[in-house]
Amino acid sequence: MSRSYGLVVETDKCLQSYNSLGLLSVASHFCTASSIAHILEALAYAKTNQLDIIPLGGGSNVVFASDLRCLVVCISLLGIKVSGTDGGTPNSVAVRFAAGENWDHAVRYCLSQGWYGLENLACIPGNIGASVIQNIGAYGVEISDRFISLSAVKTDTGEVISLNKDQCRFSYRESAFKQLLKDKFIITDVTLRLSITPIINIDYPALKHYFADHVGDISSEMVYKAVSTIRQSKLPDPDVLPNVGSFFKNPTLSASTLAKIDSKYGRTQGQIPRFEQPQGYFKVPAGWLIEQLGLKGLRHGAAGIHDKQGLVLVNYKSDTDDDCASDILALARHIQEKVFATFFIQLEIEPRIYGSV
Ligand SMILES: Cc1cc2nc3c(=O)[nH]c(=O)nc-3n(C[C@H](O)[C@H](O)[C@H](O)COP(=O)(O)OP(=O)(O)OC[C@H]3O[C@@H](n4cnc5c(N)ncnc54)[C@H](O)[C@@H]3O)c2cc1C
Repeated sequence: MSRSYGLVVETDKCLQSYNSLGLLSVASHFCTASSIAHILEALAYAKTNQLDIIPLGGGSNVVFASDLRCLVVCISLLGIKVSGTDGGTPNSVAVRFAAGENWDHAVRYCLSQGWYGLENLACIPGNIGASVIQNIGAYGVEISDRFISLSAVKTDTGEVISLNKDQCRFSYRESAFKQLLKDKFIITDVTLRLSITPIINIDYPALKHYFADHVGDISSEMVYKAVSTIRQSKLPDPDVLPNVGSFFKNPTLSASTLAKIDSKYGRTQGQIPRFEQPQGYFKVPAGWLIEQLGLKGLRHGAAGIHDKQGLVLVNYKSDTDDDCASDILALARHIQEKVFATFFIQLEIEPRIYGSV
């Protein structure tokens, strides 16, 4: 362990409790940053010691494939406050969330304050900082719908800058931070525009079904409860069965690509389900593709496809010394090959993979 000013850097740190797949990777260097000053110290330490930096939130969207020679920086900046810097609209409030705030805690806090618009994103694991990296979304809402701006530290210069919505280039499970700006920033806070009057959005089929027999008004708290109940019934709890949620993105295909697939697969088996997107594109549920191939419940070594949800890969051996990373990734490749062979669709892995595969 070494100390540079306020920052404590540990060496050979096991990351098992820092990733929701419970993988046993060891980071050569590890620290916790609870201020921008800590982040700047971490950047300087990494430069001096020629280490790459990995900013880490809740570890619910990463796969640590091997031990890592790098400085893992656990981003722990805290605080939620109304930001005076955005004009917003008369019915809204701009709220700034520090990057280390737990996402679901933030959603519940906002509800308690009468700030609405995040209820459909209830119970998504992880922290505020990473929520923008993949533009988290669920039950018909994405964080980009509420996004105003973020602050971030540039990893090469240490400069603190602000980025607006256009600069973040959000799309389905995507942002500039996965493309052009990958690894160039450590996000320190995110400002969202929330409504001071309830926004009830129950258009998503599972929510419509949940409220089908409901008589009377529906409150934001009821939507939060509905989303958490539906999620609990569908997704395994990472604390019980380690996982990273959806392992694959739902493929977005053009109408012409889908027509070609229909002419091959659809001719004999019937049409693949699809949901219309803007500009002539269609989203295809990856879980459906996996389930059609009868892969649910399949196991490979310590890894498995969840028996109720084909999109979720789980670690069955997180309480032993067996490392599951290679089994998880082999199983993912197997799924990709099978899906491609049958549907001619290339599934893209959603979580970020670190280390050598
Ligand atoms: C059971 C389960 C259900 C899930 N459901 C959903 C869902 O419904 N919708 C959805 O969109 N996602 C879902 N996810 C995925 C995951 O919860 C989200 O992607 C979440 O935003 C990840 O947050 P995190 O803090 O755990 O990120 P981490 O896993 O810690 O990090 C993810 C990536 O972001 C980077 N990063 C983290 N913090 C920062 C920062 N401050 N600055 C710069 N880079 C940073 C990391 O380096 C890494 O590349 C689910 C996951 C699980 C386990």
